[in-house]
Amino acid sequence: MSYQYDLFVIGAGSGGVRASRVAASKGYKVAVAEGSALGGTCVNIGCVPKKLFVYGSEYGHGFDEAAGFGWTHKGVEFDWSVLRDNKTNEIKRLNGIYGNMLGNAGVEVISGYASFVDAHTVMVDGKTYTAERILIAVGAKPFIPEFQGSDLVVSSNEMFFLDALPKKALVVGAGYIAVEFAGILNGLGVETSLAYRGDQLLRGFDQDVREFASEEYKKSGIDVRLNTDVSHIELADASKPEGDRVVHFKGGHSEVFGLVLYATGRVPNVGSLALEKAGIETGKNGAIKIDNNFTTTASSVFALGDVTDKIQLTPVAIKEAMALIDYWFEGKEVDFDYDNIPTAVFSQPAIGTVGLTEQEAESRGMDFRVYQTDFRAMKHTLSGGTARSLMKLLVNNADDKVIGAHMVGDYSGEIIQGLGIAIKAGATKAHFDATVGVHPTSAEEFVTFSAGALKERK
Ligand code: NDP
Repeated sequence: MSYQYDLFVIGAGSGGVRASRVAASKGYKVAVAEGSALGGTCVNIGCVPKKLFVYGSEYGHGFDEAAGFGWTHKGVEFDWSVLRDNKTNEIKRLNGIYGNMLGNAGVEVISGYASFVDAHTVMVDGKTYTAERILIAVGAKPFIPEFQGSDLVVSSNEMFFLDALPKKALVVGAGYIAVEFAGILNGLGVETSLAYRGDQLLRGFDQDVREFASEEYKKSGIDVRLNTDVSHIELADASKPEGDRVVHFKGGHSEVFGLVLYATGRVPNVGSLALEKAGIETGKNGAIKIDNNFTTTASSVFALGDVTDKIQLTPVAIKEAMALIDYWFEGKEVDFDYDNIPTAVFSQPAIGTVGLTEQEAESRGMDFRVYQTDFRAMKHTLSGGTARSLMKLLVNNADDKVIGAHMVGDYSGEIIQGLGIAIKAGATKAHFDATVGVHPTSAEEFVTFSAGALKERK
């Protein structure tokens, strides 16, 4: 049977673009269908514009901190529309680059949303396309629980295009997106509250990191409210749908906010794919079931990235795409290693983490030791800032290998990338000790931990 394409990719996000571009450069006839802008969540409404907003909001504190270094300024003002529109222009530039990359690789870009007709056929805008292989790389979308007034909240998608910033905002949730946007809003001068239903923010992160970050967020001006859940929300004035929201919290208290952001997780974006027509099965939350080689329950259909709900990170989707390419072109069975993936939360301060948390190491019954320190970063001796940094290293006693590194503080994301290499390479504490520090940096703490920094564990 002959098909129109060797590969048809659904979704031109991080994973889909990489897979289509590389497959085409290796000789496949490839098409990619995308109903929205090229680049997917990360480029358009995720990592990239978020980081630009983080940079923008960091200046909010920067002006105050500069005084201790001799700078004076008169009348600092912030214009949201400038940041928003400059960001949008930059994203348009990136969309163009993605289009050129795909075009230069010989990938045909089809504008529209694809759905399955069968395991070798998809339909886009009423037109059918056949392919020997089909790759689903459609990502995920925000999940907002249903409750009275849930239509009055926004998700992270809308945060990138707000007409105006509110005076007062409530962020609900305590994962990556919630703490990142709480930091952005707070830095841009919005009175920001962060409400979380549980005992501590950032479930899944190391407990010391969670507690430390939470305190630092409070010091930076965010009103962190733990064990706080929303009951329902209504308009303050029914004739003003864009106006203030009255948030009623469980327990009786209510309060008015100009904006309520729900950052309560993301779910696989499978709704319009008609997966059943191709015999593709899904699991929890609609995540597409795949085997080790990213093959779905239909042998001609593959899936990777957020839609499989393994680890929702852009670099993971890109690496998965490259592993799948090797599987197709070299016949290499995929053995994707989801351990020791470094990651950063671009909150303010940022968090960097790689490897096991103390709680994970404990639950595995490991015999390990923990080095830990927290300190006021040098910059703040003159800035007058009270922010502190936390660093933590976990070492396995049996073989001296470093099994986890965690940091809260400036440049955590940059620092953890390097530590990720060391841990991936199996570095021991002795290797860390033998490494000369870069002075004066915060990062050097990771190579100067001595017995004095050993944490007494319960
Ligand atoms: P997360 O899964 O990280 O966090 C969701 C948060 O919402 C949790 O605090 C969760 O609480 C809470 N929550 C879930 N359901 C409800 C509910 N019904 N009511 C109240 N609270 C609720 O999701 P995010 O949306 O923040 O991010 C999605 C993924 O995107 C991340 O896991 C990450 O992989 C990726 N990402 C990565 C970034 C980066 O690399 N810097 C940046 C942004 C996103 P609980 O813990 O109690 O379940």
